[in-house]
Formats: sequence, structure tokens, C-alpha cells
Amino acid sequence: MIKTVRGCKDIYGEDAEIFRKTENVLRETVRKYGFKEIIPPVLEYSELFERSVGEGTDIVEKEMYTFTDKGGRSVTLRPEMTASVARAYVEHHFETMPSPLKLFYIGPCFRYEKPQKGRYREFYQFGVEVLGDESPLLDAEVISLAYEVAENLGLENLKVRLNSIGCKKCRPQYKKVLQEALKPHYDELCEDCKRRFYTNPLRILDCKKEKDELKNSLPKITDYLCGECKEHFEKVKKYLDMMNIPYELDNTLVRGLDYYTKTVFEVVSGHLGAQNALLGGGRYDYLIEELGGRHTPGLGFAIGMERLVEVMKAQGSEKGEEKLIYIAYMDGLEKNAFSVASIIRNAGFTAIIDSKGGSIGKQLKHASKRNASFTVIIGEEEAEKGTVQLKDMKKKKQKEVEIEELVSEIGGKNA
Ligand SMILES: [Zn+2]
Ligand SMILES: [Zn+2]
Repeated sequence: MIKTVRGCKDIYGEDAEIFRKTENVLRETVRKYGFKEIIPPVLEYSELFERSVGEGTDIVEKEMYTFTDKGGRSVTLRPEMTASVARAYVEHHFETMPSPLKLFYIGPCFRYEKPQKGRYREFYQFGVEVLGDESPLLDAEVISLAYEVAENLGLENLKVRLNSIGCKKCRPQYKKVLQEALKPHYDELCEDCKRRFYTNPLRILDCKKEKDELKNSLPKITDYLCGECKEHFEKVKKYLDMMNIPYELDNTLVRGLDYYTKTVFEVVSGHLGAQNALLGGGRYDYLIEELGGRHTPGLGFAIGMERLVEVMKAQGSEKGEEKLIYIAYMDGLEKNAFSVASIIRNAGFTAIIDSKGGSIGKQLKHASKRNASFTVIIGEEEAEKGTVQLKDMKKKKQKEVEIEELVSEIGGKNA
């Protein structure tokens, strides 16, 4: 038997339904904020991620699906999508479009990680990017959008974790201060953090293996922000207050990717453990430059769809049951069955025509196996009169109805 590749999975049944419904809510919410879709390719040159995500990061060092194609070029299955959007911005001269440019995306990404519960090597990401404007108003708007997305999905006990990680001017200085403070504790650090101590000491702040006691004793980045970063952060907080978005300042929030600057945030749902964020994002004012474009500030957030589907299931966010109508008919009345099915489908319900045949009794059994809400029964006598028998499968009641009345009988009373 051939199985799925390790770390990949089929999404089907209830999961597929929740997945698509979630996607629709996401699309509908971002549309109202003026976002347009971009569909980048899954495959990119490896250099894109080395330059954007950053060479010192776990993603680039350990987790990329990178291979050499038949033309001898190094290509990678994208591990995230912001880099692709930024690449497209430079490549297609999006700077000529009205700014800020608001884009959203949804698609599969790949990371070669150890598969574990809720974490796959192929996973779907939904995200938004706002490009070409450095106004703190946009930071607040993107955070409020992220919050609204989670709210519209019916998720509960929502909270925003917020931090600023500075810019090229102020972060290097904080890095030095942080290294100084960490130096006496170097031997206690985990293996990854010993390496991060030199390459990216900020990441030590969000390492799950390090003690909170140590992390809380370290200097806070918000005390080392330059004037510009400080003012930006104050405005973001002020706007969030105006929008009534509840947030909590968290100095250990640094996000995993190198390209973030200034504002970083996560939306957390109370039903998850402390380590689990629903979605995360931030500002990345140098990313486009790194990729060879002009100075173009940007920001955005991304959501892992699998995580979201899991949380929606756990919180029982209802799947909104589809009404299924089964059509049973006497042999020879297929034409009537087809016409009844199209009437039902045109009214927006799901219609399934029996294909196994047999007595009406047997067909009714097929209907209950499929959890049909109603079965339409077409017999000789009814066919001649232009009526059908309509059986309510839950109430176990049956009555004769005119074909013209069928839709209102199904939808009107039980909707
Ligand atoms: Zn700064
Ligand atoms: Zn560590």
C-alpha cells in the first residue's frame, strides 16, 4: 500500500468542511479591509529564503525542502509566503500601484520538521501583507484585523500579545546589552541557544527550554528603543486603545524570523496552552530592500490553517450542518428523480439521487445511513399527479406534497 509522505496528510470529511468554512470566513473578513488575493508559486529559488527569512534561522538552517533541479539550480518548496509576496512586489513593480498595497494569500508551505501532533511538514498558511507605508495606524489596523478574524471564527477568550523589537538603529545596541546579561548564564543555555547567543540572541527570549526566571531577569528591549521606534510603538498602543482591542505587553515575544522590525504581535485564544498562538505577525520595514527593491515598509500576519481547524473543533465552533435531501424512486422514474434533484439543488440544498436501487424501503435505509434530513419518495401514482412523498427523517413523518411546494416544505419549516 502506498501511503502519504511522512509529515503530510489528507484533509477530508469534517476537517475539510471546517477548513473551507474557515477559509471563507478569512477571505470575507479581509475583503472588508480592502485586501486583494495574490497566488505565488510553491517553488522559489532557495536564495529568496536565505536572504529574507535569514541564514541564522532554524527554518533556513534545518527545515527547508531544498533540492537541485535538472538545470542545476537550487530551488526550495516555500517554508512561508511573506518572502514570495515581497519577491513579487519587487519583480512586478508593485510600487507603481496605489500605496499601501494590501494583499492576502492562502496556500501550502513546507518545513522539514519532526512531525508531531498538530504539526505537519506540509501545512497551509493564510496571511495578509500591507506594503509601502510605515504609519503606526496600519500596525493597529492589521492587529485589529487579526483580532476580528479570530472573533469571526467564533474563537473565545482572545488576547493580543504585543512587543516592539526595534530597528536597525536600536536593535544592535540591545543585542549587545542582552549578550552581556546572558554571558554569566551561557553554560545553562540549551544547545540551540548557545548557538543563538552569537547569531541571534533575541531568539533566546522565546526559547521554551529556558527558565522564565532567567528570561524575566534580562533587560527589556522596549527600554532600549530609539526615539523613532518608541514613538511608533506608543502610537500603535494608542490606536489599539481607541479600537478597544485588548492587548498585553510581552517582552519575550520576538517571533522566529529575522526580517521583523518594530511591532510584533500574536493573537492567543484562552483555550490553548500558554505556548500556543493562533496567529502571529509584525512589521518588516527592510525586507523589500533586502530583496533588491527600494525602501518599502511592510507588515502582515500569518495563520496556520491546521492549528485553526484543530482549535475550531476543540471549541465546538459549529460546522453549520448542511441539509441533505435524499431522492428515492420506483424503477423507471429516473427522469422524475433528475428533475426533482435539480429543483432541490437550485434552491441551494444538497440532493443525492439513489443509485443502488431496490425497494423504496431499502432506499430509505440508504438515506438514513447518509444522515439525510429528508427523503423525497417518487412513486408511480405520485408521478402522475405531479406530487411526491416527503419524509422528514428526524421526525419520522411522511406526507404528500405538490412539487411546487417541495422547496418551501424543506426549507421553510426546518431552516
Ligand atoms: Zn529603532
Ligand atoms: Zn534555549
